[in-house]
Amino acid sequence: MHLLRTVPPRQLENICTEYNICIRDAFSKITGIFPSEANFIQFSRSVGRGGLGFRNPIFFSHIAYLASSINASTRDQTSLGDIDDIQSAINYVNEYVLSDNDIPYNIDSEFRIPKGKNENPSGRPKKHFMDIPSQHDLSCKLEDKQLKCAVNSALLAQNSALAAQLRSMSSKHAGAWMRVVPSKTLFLNFKPSEYIILLRWWMRLPQFAADELHRYIKCEAVLDPLGYHALTCKSGGDLIHRHNAIRDMVFKACQTACLTPRLEKHGLIANSNDRPADVYIPHLNNGKSCAADIAVTHALQPNKIFYAARESAGAATRYAIMVKDKKYKAVVEKQDHGIDYLPLVVDCFGAWDQRAINFFKKIAATISKTKFAPYSETISQLMERLSVTHMRANARALLCRYPRRCISDILPTMIEDLDDTDQK
Ligand SMILES: [Zn+2]
Repeated sequence: MHLLRTVPPRQLENICTEYNICIRDAFSKITGIFPSEANFIQFSRSVGRGGLGFRNPIFFSHIAYLASSINASTRDQTSLGDIDDIQSAINYVNEYVLSDNDIPYNIDSEFRIPKGKNENPSGRPKKHFMDIPSQHDLSCKLEDKQLKCAVNSALLAQNSALAAQLRSMSSKHAGAWMRVVPSKTLFLNFKPSEYIILLRWWMRLPQFAADELHRYIKCEAVLDPLGYHALTCKSGGDLIHRHNAIRDMVFKACQTACLTPRLEKHGLIANSNDRPADVYIPHLNNGKSCAADIAVTHALQPNKIFYAARESAGAATRYAIMVKDKKYKAVVEKQDHGIDYLPLVVDCFGAWDQRAINFFKKIAATISKTKFAPYSETISQLMERLSVTHMRANARALLCRYPRRCISDILPTMIEDLDDTDQK
């Protein structure tokens, strides 16, 4: 990072290229995954933007250099390096980082140029310290723009599946499973086979060649190489397993928050056996009870993909409103004890509907007060636990459905850890 901040980008190109090659080679050697060039664009996006977090330093060298140069020029009244290098970094940032609404950077207005080098006529830096762009802000802008371009090109190419997946994977907390520090003790770990099948699925890499025909033994359905059927298949109990695993995690979080939750409480709706509350909380908002109803939907389902491709967590929100609210909201709320009905819906890539995120924030705030733990840490840990639980269940559904031969092709060295995962 120090090099990126202090050495002109043009002098770093070769080193950055070499660095990228080393990282990609190491990734392929460890995972057995050999991504295409298109996959490498996702590979180098941050986890928060649906990538794998192996950032490409070439993209950030101009930003780091420009931010340091402006800082040095404005705060210390010195200039880093040559004006041509600074101008080239400015050109890069203006073209690839700033949005249409931003005012482009200009060497005359941002820099205090040292005497003898096209001296700034005013002699004073024109920017206030508060206006100095930080490297972090510019990097976020660059990544947002790259993601927006990727989504827009997918939409232009009428590839709704890719657009939907990009939006879902880049939604808040969706990539938490990848960021978590693995811990067996805290059950925040994946088996190698689980992690690798998830990486392949996340990167849209086929699990087998398109001309091969595979059926899932329990439902006889033809499997698709990208895992859509595996995560929507009603046979084999994997959907129920995934739902219950997430439900239990939500229940535990409510217990930790001392909210005395009840699991699958019945009798909430008069004269009905329906149980709209996966987790029932007797007192939540203004002392009112809450029926939290957990559901997982698939962002690429034909009736959801349009929404998923156009807004973050679009599939989850649509499902919460059109299916869950429609079925239970009115009926639960008009019971004489007046219960708040709250669907907690997530799509298969981990994009939660905003109402669910608000609920988790509330639970995390309560936990952080009772445990005297920082809120930011508490909410991250809660979302990480939910994400790992969810993705582990996805991995199980994917691994169970692919024939052992396909799995051994893509996971050559990890076949032994499948023995207690597959065919359950
Ligand atoms: Zn099936």
